Parts: sequence; C-alpha cells; structure tokens
Amino acid sequence: MRKRALVVGLGIAGMAAAIGLRQAGWTPVIVERAPERRRGGYFVGLMTEGRQAAVALGIADHLHTRNPPDGGKAWSLDRRGRREPGVGFLHQPGDPVAVVRGDIESALWWSACGDGTDEPVDVRFATTPVEIHTVGGDVRVLFEDAGTGARYSEGFDLVVGADGLRSSVRRTVFGPDEDYMTDWGAMVCAFQLQEQVPSFAEADSVISARAGRAVWVFGLVDRPPTVLLTYRTEDTRKQFSGSAVQRLRTVFSGMDDPAVRHALAALERTPEFLFDSVHQVRMPRWSSGRVVLLGDAAWCPNLYSGMGATTALRGGAELGRALLESPDDLDAALAAWESGLRPFVRRHQRIARLKQQMFVPSSRPVEELRSVVLRLACAARERRSAKARARASA
Ligand SMILES: Cc1cc2nc3c(=O)[nH]c(=O)nc-3n(C[C@H](O)[C@H](O)[C@H](O)COP(=O)(O)OP(=O)(O)OC[C@H]3O[C@@H](n4cnc5c(N)ncnc54)[C@H](O)[C@@H]3O)c2cc1C
Repeated sequence: MRKRALVVGLGIAGMAAAIGLRQAGWTPVIVERAPERRRGGYFVGLMTEGRQAAVALGIADHLHTRNPPDGGKAWSLDRRGRREPGVGFLHQPGDPVAVVRGDIESALWWSACGDGTDEPVDVRFATTPVEIHTVGGDVRVLFEDAGTGARYSEGFDLVVGADGLRSSVRRTVFGPDEDYMTDWGAMVCAFQLQEQVPSFAEADSVISARAGRAVWVFGLVDRPPTVLLTYRTEDTRKQFSGSAVQRLRTVFSGMDDPAVRHALAALERTPEFLFDSVHQVRMPRWSSGRVVLLGDAAWCPNLYSGMGATTALRGGAELGRALLESPDDLDAALAAWESGLRPFVRRHQRIARLKQQMFVPSSRPVEELRSVVLRLACAARERRSAKARARASA
C-alpha cells in the first residue's frame, strides 16, 4: 500500500515536498491555512541549485522567468539622489533567475495538481492541524476546518511541516519559537509597484542603501518592478505597534530620493504588502520520529541570503530522492536527507550576515565601504562586458 504523508503549508517548500514525495511513490495530502491559493508576491532570485531542483521536480519548463536581458541595468542612488551605474541582485555570480514568488508557486501547483500526468495532490484549504501525536508507526493528526469549525482526525506515515517561519508544526512538536528563531534586528516591507520609478527604464533596478535603511526596486521584464524597504532596529517587537505605513514613513523620512519617494507614495495605495521582522531559524535536528520540517520552518536563511526559495526547492526534491533510496527505512532516509542538505543550508545562513550589509549597511563607514566595493565590482563587470562585446564583433 502507498504510504501517506501530510504536508502542512502550500508554499514553495510544501509543494516541492509534495512533488518529491509523489516521485518517491508516496501519497501526499497538503493542508493550507489560507482559504485559497495566493498569487503574485515579491521578487525572488532563484540560484543555480534552485534551478537544478526545479528540473528534478519536473517544473523547470513551466517556470515563467522575468530576467531583463543581461541582468538589466541597475542604478545606485547617492545621498543626494544622484544616480550612478550599480550592481543589482541579478548581477551576482550564478546568474540568478528573476521571478516573483507566485511564478514558482504556479509552476509547482501545475505539477502537483494540474498537469494530468500524475494523480493530483489532495489539497485542503482553510485547514490546520491542531494536534499531532505519534502512536506506534502512525502519526495521528487532529485537523480543524476554519470554514465550519469541524474537527476530524486522520493517520499518516509522515508529517512534513512546511508552514513557514512561524511554523505551528515546529512549535507543537519541537518547542517554542524562541528556541529556534534568532531576531536579526531588522524589518522588511515588500510589495508590487504599479509603475516604475519616474525617469527610469521599465526593467531598471534602483537601489538606495543608507546606514540602517534601504530601498531596493527590482526591475522585471514583463511586469512593473517589485520593491523592498528594509531597515534596522533595536526593537523589532515595537515595530508592529500602530500603522506599518506610518512607521515606514517615519523611518524613511529625510531620505529624500526618487526611489524612496516613489515607494512610500505607492505604499499608501497598494492593496497588499508584506511587513515583517527578519529572523533566521536554526535547529539542531530537522526531524523527530515521523515529523520532519522543511523550508523556512526548518532553516529560514532569510531574505538577505536570497536562498530561501532555492533551499526550499532543493529540500523538497532531495527529500523525495532520499525516500526513494531508502523506501523501507524512514529514519535512514531522513538522516541521509539532512546530512546531505545541512552543510549547504548552513553555508548560506552564515553568508547571510555579510549579504545583509550589502542590502542595508549597519553604519556610515560600512555604507561608504559598500559603495567602494560595489563601484569596483561595477567597473569589473563593465570591463568583462566590453571584452565579451569585442569578442563577439571580432
Ligand atoms: C521580501 C522577501 C524576499 C525574498 N527574496 C528571496 C530571494 O530573492 N531568493 C530566495 O531564494 N528566497 C527569497 N525569499 C525567501 C523565500 O520567499 C522563502 O524562503 C520561500 O518562499 C520558502 O517559503 P516556505 O514555503 O518555507 O514558507 P512560506 O512561504 O511562509 O509558506 C508557508 C505556507 O504555510 C501556510 N501555513 C502557515 N501556518 C499554517 C498552518 N498552521 N496550517 C496550514 N498552513 C499553514 C502559509 O499560509 C503558507 O502558505 C524572500 C523572502 C522575503 C520575505
């Protein structure tokens, strides 16, 4: 009989895990707290390992990508709002693929539920697990349907907690958030712009990074850019009191450049935005018996690392592979999966601190150092492009 797995969360990690499980011959069931599938979302750069995982999961051909040619133009704004050529997110090594989060989720959804080649995954919206108990070789899960309030219980061979940064599966099975979430003393706000910053070309990226606060506009090829406002704070909890829009206005006041002005004006009108504190999740083990965590729930490397989606896809693909290789030994499969993946995740969790300085420098000297480093990187990039053009025309 096919083994059944419960996957909690219909994000990138959850759907990648469900597809990986199905490839290993399991029957996954996904429960999602929200009443329907979310769409759109913020800019995500998908790195090499994420693209490889997309191939392994069979979604690569359905992933809509939005890279401007040659990574597009990136502009850096100085303290007076003057622009100079800069280095954008897409110019980093590994040629990241530009998407919005919803592009990855759509490709995963297509494979999990809509391509017709495999049995569609059973997805239950507005449903959350409220109790999880391991009884012998079975995990008993008590569910609650948010629509009707009805509760019912079901048994599974495995539970995958892919329910994000503030995972309830982690809290229920592994312990309180404080044991695993580290506060990075920073906030983030991300949303979709309706139009590009005035006087910039459609697919340009615009970066204004000052000590303690920064605005990043990510240019895309076939839709308006998305924007990220991020700032450092000593009291993340306090940032949630009162209106987020008002708080962002206060934090960014005095930073008078076209990108900041445009982003703050757009924020007033946008129907939807994300406003959250930045954390990293570090756990000594990602599984306990028949419950395993995956994605942000297990290892959230955070947005500065630029690796959350990539590690989530890879985590799901490799979970499937490990289960396929050890079909009759769940402990061995989970141990092999974790030991294969952990060094990769750990490396990117560490690098995230340095990348945070690139996103939002911690002080004025770091801001100045960052500008020098990026100017040099930009000049080196220009030289490489000029050489490539010369070779092409020779
Ligand atoms: C602003 C920003 C920019 C980013 N940029 C990048 C980038 O450039 N590159 C990159 O690789 N990554 C990036 N990331 C990170 C990346 O988006 C995430 O790491 C990735 O989407 C994986 O998320 P996840 O599926 O683990 O969790 P989530 O996306 O949080 O999904 C969790 C799902 O579980 C559901 N859920 C929660 N609780 C329950 C419950 N109790 N019961 C049922 N369902 C539940 C939620 O509704 C949600 O659908 C960025 C993140 C942010 C915030």
